[in-house]
Amino acid sequence: MKAAVFWQHGGPEVVEIADVPRPQVGPGLVLIAVRAAALNHLDLWARRGLPGLQLEFPHIGGSDIAGVVEEVGDGVAGFGPGTRALVNPSLWCGSCDWCLKGEESLCTSYKIIGEHIRGGLAEFAAVPAANVLPIPDDLSFEEAAAVPLVYQTAWRGLVSRGRLQAGEYLLVTGASGGVSTAAIQIAKHLGATVFAVTAGPEKVARVRELGADHVIDRLESDFSKEVWKATDKQGVDIAFDSVGEAVWPDLLRALARDGRLVTYGATTGAAGQVEIRLTFWKQLQIIGTTMSSASEFNEVMSLVFEKKLKPVIDVVWPLEDAREAHHRLEAGQQFGKIVLTP
Ligand SMILES: [Zn+2]
Repeated sequence: MKAAVFWQHGGPEVVEIADVPRPQVGPGLVLIAVRAAALNHLDLWARRGLPGLQLEFPHIGGSDIAGVVEEVGDGVAGFGPGTRALVNPSLWCGSCDWCLKGEESLCTSYKIIGEHIRGGLAEFAAVPAANVLPIPDDLSFEEAAAVPLVYQTAWRGLVSRGRLQAGEYLLVTGASGGVSTAAIQIAKHLGATVFAVTAGPEKVARVRELGADHVIDRLESDFSKEVWKATDKQGVDIAFDSVGEAVWPDLLRALARDGRLVTYGATTGAAGQVEIRLTFWKQLQIIGTTMSSASEFNEVMSLVFEKKLKPVIDVVWPLEDAREAHHRLEAGQQFGKIVLTP
């Protein structure tokens, strides 16, 4: 089968289209004929290499998969060949203390399809049956592929970890990214007021279209000052961030008393500076979050299926353009999800 692979870590130039063997369908597994797969920042990290990440080469990225069930392994029940489906990229053991508590994203052997094992940037992908979720007929494969990773991350981060309430103020940084666009929609659905930070007039306009109440162009003004002014010197209740190091001091300043910094990434660096006096005086909380539990996943997917949340697609390109897609994501040119179709 055709796949976008890399044989070694490096820049976008290591990504190439190759012919590789079709994955085998063992017991409990399902073979998906991939119709669309989306890129995430994870794909960049996996391609560059991360400490402790041991990949089996050639690696196939792509955590977000949508397609048609081609074949099911022994013991798989509930759906069969021909079912349209998307795939939850979370992999958990099901038997550790965290899994038994229903906290699968805290599983001691937690892994992600496309990061730790081969993903969906290929004509076929083999995934556990528990990860396959049938989709309604009116959801396209491209939309379905734009959903799983970013909506589960935004839902857990805002709802379960951040405890965002109706009427609260939320600040979203890097607002054109996939998780951010999902977060803006979820926050509006929950009745929060959204401040969003992005760069340039074009992105400002698109973020506003998504429903953000106050959009700040970081090229034009200092967002922590803008937030301070717009909230009558109260600050925001939650800052939801994956920009990391470059913005942490400003995020802590922009938070209200009893505010929560919810972090799910560190794109600009991992050494975020924390002003300790500000932290105890305003009684701030710094909360980590990643991916979601299986029940949180099902909860947010049903909102997508009911059209209460609408996936944001940047471009749909053929799989052959995988290297160009890495370039586009790395340069931050996208607005929403980059989707590839084999
Ligand atoms: Zn576990």
